[in-house]
Amino acid sequence: MSVKDFESVIINNEKFKLLFSEKQIQKRTKELAKQISEDYKRTVPVFIGVLNGSFLFMSDLIRYVSIDCEIDFFKLSSYGDAKISSGRVKLLKELNCDVNGRDIIIVEDIVDTGLSVKYIEKLFKKHKPKSMKVVSLLVKQDSLKYDLKIDYIGYNIPSKFVIGYGLDYAQKYRNLRSIYVLNENGD
Ligand code: 5GP
Repeated sequence: MSVKDFESVIINNEKFKLLFSEKQIQKRTKELAKQISEDYKRTVPVFIGVLNGSFLFMSDLIRYVSIDCEIDFFKLSSYGDAKISSGRVKLLKELNCDVNGRDIIIVEDIVDTGLSVKYIEKLFKKHKPKSMKVVSLLVKQDSLKYDLKIDYIGYNIPSKFVIGYGLDYAQKYRNLRSIYVLNENGD
């Protein structure tokens, strides 16, 4: 599989159509980074990426940010190899940094039901950060099951399965530069 911009990709006889091109993603990420840099210009925030999905978005976002910042990652699992959420969250890798008294920004690739973000917020509140905000490149507003505030949103998208730019299908296709959506109509 090539990692260039295609109009569509076929995986296991399923067609995925281009949703956001590499160019669109970069432009939107730059806009989010500009807003975050403005909002955090008087502090040094810690960007906390949720692995695995957010690794590409995180690396692009922090390179567009113009203020001093720190980063860390932790790992959750909820989807496994499936296309729908298991409804459970497991902590697979803890944070290394001390977030006590810090301004933290949780970096998500996608918010679906909101379970992961809810879990993260609860977990981090115990460590008493000074402030906590969430940035997500994609949000499936119609799938949200929890009362959540996503402070910075790249794109609101329909409740359909997407891949590419960090997002996997059974662990593959994270290296696609664009984001593709499963074409359930088959056209
Ligand atoms: P939530 O806890 O909000 O239901 O789901 C969040 C996690 O589920 C994301 O971080 C991501 O790993 C996974 N996820 C949700 N929707 C999709 C999707 O459309 N495609 C892929 N590849 N993963 C998704």
